Amino acid sequence: MAWMSSGSTSAELISNMAKHGLIRSARLTEAMKKVDRANYVLDKADAYEDSPQPIGYEATISAPHMHAHAIENLIDFLLPGAKVLDVGSGSGYLCAVLHHLVGPTGKVVGIDHIPELVEWSVENLKNDGLTSTLDDKSIEMITGDGRQGWLEKAPFDAIHVGAAAPMMPRALVDQLAKPGRMFIPVGTHTQSIFQVDKDRDGNVTEKKLFGVRYVPLTDRKT
Ligand code: SAH
Repeated sequence: MAWMSSGSTSAELISNMAKHGLIRSARLTEAMKKVDRANYVLDKADAYEDSPQPIGYEATISAPHMHAHAIENLIDFLLPGAKVLDVGSGSGYLCAVLHHLVGPTGKVVGIDHIPELVEWSVENLKNDGLTSTLDDKSIEMITGDGRQGWLEKAPFDAIHVGAAAPMMPRALVDQLAKPGRMFIPVGTHTQSIFQVDKDRDGNVTEKKLFGVRYVPLTDRKT
């Protein structure tokens, strides 16, 4: 139950989520503790609510339990030194958590198609103490169409997609490392999370996990 996990401080939110089994691994608990959600929301009064919040441009920062769920799914691929792509990076919150998992030798690429959101996410990351990781490019925030991935930095050990694709985007599957895993919502009227695994030989398997409601991956309005 999401609401039971809300807190009045960042530490309380994380420990309530752990208590309710929404965060299971110690590594994720440690990483989430290092990120203050208040730096990634518009209304700081609701920063530690376990619910999604609007961040402008028809985007929302996902609920903390949803972020936790996605990372738990990818955690075995988020080892120190790993390379990760976050599609629809929005507030930048997840890029910060991912960075704390893959460490300074790892690489996190966040991509969003709204330039204003990308600029805001860079400010958010700086306010959260990550200026040097942006300077040394262990976190890189990019404006672009996430459906195409980011060929320049591929392949990725893990790909997280934060908006729903109508169909499985082939470019993203192609940019998965061998082995690699992608967590992606797919669908229009009904959406489900898919776990896409690529093994060492390049064989790809897709597993449908559960139903969700995400904002869609879209063309940028001009
Ligand atoms: N995971 C982020 C934001 C989720 S909202 C967070 O929790 O803060 C989904 C995001 O996907 C929005 O920021 C939106 O701008 C972005 N998006 C939608 N279509 C996109 C596309 N084609 N390419 C890149 N980003 C896209």
